[in-house]
Amino acid sequence: MDFSLTQEQQQLRKTVRAFAEGEIAPHVMEWDEASHFPIEIMPQLGEMGLLGVIFPEQYGGAGLGYIEYAIAVEELSRVDGSVGIIVAAHNSLCSNHIYKFGTEAQKKKYLTPLAQGKRIGAWSLTEPEAGSDAGGTRTTARRDGDHYILNGSKTFTTNGHYADFCVAMAVTDKSKGSHGISAFIIEKGTPGFRPGKKENKLGLRASDTSEIIFTDCRVPAENLLGAEGEGFTGSLAILDGGRISIAALGLGMAQGALDAALSYAKQRKQFGKAISEFQAIQFKLADMATEVEASRLLVYHAAWLADQKTVRFGKESSMAKLFAGEVAVRVANECVQIHGGYGFIKDYPAEKYYRDVKLCTIGEGTSEIQRMVIARQLLGKK
Ligand SMILES: Cc1cc2nc3c(=O)[nH]c(=O)nc-3n(C[C@H](O)[C@H](O)[C@H](O)COP(=O)(O)OP(=O)(O)OC[C@H]3O[C@@H](n4cnc5c(N)ncnc54)[C@H](O)[C@@H]3O)c2cc1C
Repeated sequence: MDFSLTQEQQQLRKTVRAFAEGEIAPHVMEWDEASHFPIEIMPQLGEMGLLGVIFPEQYGGAGLGYIEYAIAVEELSRVDGSVGIIVAAHNSLCSNHIYKFGTEAQKKKYLTPLAQGKRIGAWSLTEPEAGSDAGGTRTTARRDGDHYILNGSKTFTTNGHYADFCVAMAVTDKSKGSHGISAFIIEKGTPGFRPGKKENKLGLRASDTSEIIFTDCRVPAENLLGAEGEGFTGSLAILDGGRISIAALGLGMAQGALDAALSYAKQRKQFGKAISEFQAIQFKLADMATEVEASRLLVYHAAWLADQKTVRFGKESSMAKLFAGEVAVRVANECVQIHGGYGFIKDYPAEKYYRDVKLCTIGEGTSEIQRMVIARQLLGKK
């Protein structure tokens, strides 16, 4: 058993941290307040390989694994969770669905520019009436000659307004239930395909979360992703990997909140001494650091399992996502508490972590759904 990161992995952490602190940190509050999608940093993220971390070089990717991916998402999210979720949805949802289920031609045409960072990806499973119960998808795709005609609407799609390519799930055969749902790649500009309402959110406000609307949208049959009827089961496999990135998002934000709390506790003086001298504050910091470290072990273990490519890792990725998400919420809460009144004020980073972390107990399956996934596997149920 070896818990150490390789020299290359340590270097990657340093590089991403320096980028996040240098290029993202100065703009975090401005982007948050304006709900500004940081389109200007996308080329740099692409050049650093962060928009194609887990894909082979032959498809324009960085040729790295889930450990490196977790490092990248953790370090970006330590500074701004919005950038973390943008990178996560692009890599492990949209691009990975094409990598895992796409034909060679689809990988060349769509995955390569996504992995190179020349195009932005989105992934649409959730619908207004089908969230946790995504098998209840209502968007339809009717075959018409060498096209499918899509109708319906998706909700909460990360990167929705900015995506050049969207992978979306739609019902091709209602009689087959969740086995009648298929995946499609839709290009921006396809008539009948458009982003709808951009959500005004509690947190992660610089990320874009949008409706996606299909109105008699004609998609070439060659854009069917995987076999007909494989879209829902495929999505569950994609979410196994995606949950590692949401766990890393939570881990990064929890680490950021811990760092902010530590720094504030050392400089804030009350009763003639730094508040870090009070045992009540020390115990909070100790608990926060312990929980963050436990999250890190679960996240990197799940990432390591995913990199083995021979073992199933769905239970472990759900455990990492469940634990790291809940820890992020607790740690951000204590970060505000340690800041006292200043934790409530936008001049300090505490309130933003407090708002942003909540997504981690909701996105890519709520904490309740993670517990169901874990329990099902413990009990040997499908
Ligand atoms: C910022 C953001 C970004 C997102 N990005 C994407 C994206 O890119 N692509 C995408 O497809 N989706 C995305 N989502 C959607 C997200 O995955 C869903 O919000 C999530 O799966 C929950 O679905 P829901 O919101 O419909 O809640 P619901 O399913 O309505 O759940 C409501 C509550 O009921 C509980 N619940 C539901 N079923 C059960 C059950 N069987 N047992 C116990 N409790 C249950 C839930 O845990 C929750 O507490 C995003 C969401 C947000 C907020």
